[in-house]
Amino acid sequence: MQTKFDITQLAKPEVAEAERVLRSCVHCGFCLATCPTYVQLGDERDSPRGRIYMIKAMLESSRAADEITVRHIDRCLSCLSCTTTCPSGVDYMHLVDHARVHIEQTYRRPIFERLLRRKLLILLPRPSLFRVAILVARGPALLGRFLPGRLGVLMRLALRPVYAPSWVDKPQTIPAEGDVRKKRVALSTGCVQKALAPEINEATARVLARHGCEVVVLKGLGCCGALALHHGDREDAQNLARRNISAFMTEHRHGPIDALVANASGCGTMLKDYGTLFRENVAIGEEATEFAGLARDISEVLVELKPLKTISLPKLRVVYHSACSMQHGQKMHKDPKKLLEDAGFELCEPVDAHLCCGSAGTYNILQPDLAGRMLERKVATLEQTKPDIIATGNIGCMVQIASSTTVPVVHTAELVDWATGGPIPPALEGRGLVE
Ligand code: SF4
Ligand code: SF4
Repeated sequence: MQTKFDITQLAKPEVAEAERVLRSCVHCGFCLATCPTYVQLGDERDSPRGRIYMIKAMLESSRAADEITVRHIDRCLSCLSCTTTCPSGVDYMHLVDHARVHIEQTYRRPIFERLLRRKLLILLPRPSLFRVAILVARGPALLGRFLPGRLGVLMRLALRPVYAPSWVDKPQTIPAEGDVRKKRVALSTGCVQKALAPEINEATARVLARHGCEVVVLKGLGCCGALALHHGDREDAQNLARRNISAFMTEHRHGPIDALVANASGCGTMLKDYGTLFRENVAIGEEATEFAGLARDISEVLVELKPLKTISLPKLRVVYHSACSMQHGQKMHKDPKKLLEDAGFELCEPVDAHLCCGSAGTYNILQPDLAGRMLERKVATLEQTKPDIIATGNIGCMVQIASSTTVPVVHTAELVDWATGGPIPPALEGRGLVE
């Protein structure tokens, strides 16, 4: 694609990078059919190619974002399905991140939208605050849960159970089981997941220790910053990342850590990209790149720790929902499925597995109609396989899918923990799946 940036514009590294990405698009349109918003709406402006054109026009003219551009960029899930399909290797992820920063810096959203976005950015990365907000909102939520639109989604979210801090949230070192320590790993315990599903971090710590890992839970390692970045607040994302890098590198220098384990693939994608986040910052860039190089999804680490110490469980049918951040963000297609098969589950594949469930961070709150349509389609394809369990590796997808199905939705780490001697995942209790 030809571009028309002048020298002054290209002097800014982020614009120069955006220009490089824009030029790599050959407008072939292969990406259209795999874009969930184009599939739903059939409008070129809601396709990757259409968005790329709009971003190009916005950046080339150095103008403030306009309402139409904002509407179509806001509808993008950042699912990155287009990056899997694109034959030219267009780095859409960093292009749309840059566009979002430009939008936040130049466009004034309506007041309700601004307040909602701010509220989400304050509450979600802080589990203690999130717990309090949910408890306070519970009364009004009982009345407002049937409301349509964003308010209804927020009210229904407030009716979800939230949990007190878990034993695994405290800074500690969990010793490796067995005679040989195979790895020393740090656990990224995340943010909102701690309040919504503490059993995921507990299962992750147990299964790692059982398979020979010393697991370190570090003080100061928290929200990865993905939410802030996807809302166009790069500064906030960098502040959160800086704190994580500092907490991790202090421990890593003290006693080398083999991997930083994430069990939410949305966070994993972000952690693996810290090098790019600090590309222009010499002072922290090197450490950020080292940090990013050690970030791993739990399934990658467990596959390396084989063989699994499996116990005997009934052969349950598991359909695996690969989160967009897992399959398109981290390009991980095999490890989580192999892990479930090695753990003794019968794996089944849904059709259209490449399409998003509509969760995408806060997308299901900010774009409830579109997200609802994607969810309906996703749940139908998952249920079509007649599974006993739906497995996935991302808390956002778990919450989204569980809101629309009676099939239990369980994290991959919980299933592998159970299959190797851990407790039954809470979502499976009382389901009659085991004697
Ligand atoms: S597939 Fe890639 S090169 Fe083709 S239009 Fe889409 S982004 Fe551009
Ligand atoms: S990230 Fe997803 S929603 Fe956004 S343009 Fe690409 S395929 Fe479409």
